[in-house]
Amino acid sequence: MNHFIEKTLQLKDPNITIDTEKVDEVKVNGRFSLIYYGKLSYTPKACECCGIINNAFQVVKNGYRTDSRITLNTISAMPAYLKLKKQRFSCRECG
Ligand SMILES: [Zn+2]
Repeated sequence: MNHFIEKTLQLKDPNITIDTEKVDEVKVNGRFSLIYYGKLSYTPKACECCGIINNAFQVVKNGYRTDSRITLNTISAMPAYLKLKKQRFSCRECG
C-alpha cells in the first residue's frame, strides 16, 4: 500500500485511511483551504460498553459516524483539513 498521502499529511494514526482520489478546495473562515477525506477503522479488542473480549467477532462493524473535521498542517501556505468518518461498532452481547 502507498502511504504517500499519509506521510504528506503527517498522520500518525495507522488506522486512518485517506481517500487519495478526492481533495476539495473550499473557503473555510474566508480562506481557501484544502479538504481531504478519510476513514478511521480498526478492530476493537473489547466492547466499550460491556467489556466482552472481541475474540470471536462479538463486536461487529456497523457503518460510519458523521464526519468530524481535523485541522492538518498547512500545505503550500493553504490551511488543510481532514474530514474523518469514524467506524461505528455493534456488540452482539449487549447491543
Ligand atoms: Zn458489549
